[in-house]
Amino acid sequence: MQLRRDPITQSWVNLEDEGESLAKGGEASCPFCPNHEALSPQTLYEYPGGGSSWQVRVTPHFRPLYRIEGDPQRRAEGIYDKMRSLGAHEVVVENPSHHLSLSRQTDENVAQVLRAYIARVKDLKKDRRFRYVTVFRNQGALAGEEFEHPHSEITATPFIPRRVGYELRSSLRYFELKERCLTCDIAAQEIAQNTRIVEQRGGFIAFCPFAARVPYEIWLLSLKHHCSFEEDLTSWDQQLCLAGLLRSVLMRLETFAPTHHLVLHSSPNLGAKFERGGIWRTLTDDYHWHLEILPVIPSKAKSYALKEVYYNSLLPEMAAQALRNAGT
Ligand SMILES: [Zn+2]
Ligand SMILES: [Zn+2]
Ligand SMILES: [Zn+2]
Repeated sequence: MQLRRDPITQSWVNLEDEGESLAKGGEASCPFCPNHEALSPQTLYEYPGGGSSWQVRVTPHFRPLYRIEGDPQRRAEGIYDKMRSLGAHEVVVENPSHHLSLSRQTDENVAQVLRAYIARVKDLKKDRRFRYVTVFRNQGALAGEEFEHPHSEITATPFIPRRVGYELRSSLRYFELKERCLTCDIAAQEIAQNTRIVEQRGGFIAFCPFAARVPYEIWLLSLKHHCSFEEDLTSWDQQLCLAGLLRSVLMRLETFAPTHHLVLHSSPNLGAKFERGGIWRTLTDDYHWHLEILPVIPSKAKSYALKEVYYNSLLPEMAAQALRNAGT
């Protein structure tokens, strides 16, 4: 396993030699079902703790994309850069039940999943080798789901993923120009225009973004400005409110697309070893954490398979209207 950097786009690519996907053998051989803990013995987080009747459990991935030991061993090959795939890769088991998708769980349980994210992101950010921690979930085979059991994944990496890098630079530029947060301004305009909002709950909104890349793309964010998911979402009330909105949005979405990618975009690790102090100096004011949901729709898949330019056949205004009308 190694990481190589594309010298033109500056994005890191994970290259794997073997690359066999994990077998899906149903509940009998599922490593994440209760009483099968011996198949994934190390517990990184558990709720409730200390017993066999956990609701949420986090364990290291047994075929990790990144390995936790050592240092990145950054080296050159002529003009090219490469390094070891140093990092962490964890699985968040969202529920003991093998068949209960996140959208069918209770708001309380979804909130416990969010709490597991918070605890693990905080812990991984203590490691100064890691510049960024990504929380994501792939639901459905078309989205590259690795296990049937409802789960999310967390990776920690010695680099900032490319799209987050774009967002950080773009938010910084906007802030330099206007001394306002770009995402706060987007949220305010979405509420004022009220054509792409899917749902609003407490201090959180879900909407289809203006330039949606795929049909039914949805972003979730807090109306109160904060750069960091794990530092913002501290109270149970907030966690429960976001959990309720997320569950409801996933349920609406599943009417149209059962398969999706979900990713958390949040502040990078400011304590990381090589983080250049100056570059993110206004980050707490200019960056705004959010969740992005990108559905995968089979018949349309080819239209955005080539990621040079996105082609989306559904206007986000129409998507938001359909999602609002979908039963929850
Ligand atoms: Zn299972
Ligand atoms: Zn903001
Ligand atoms: Zn984002």
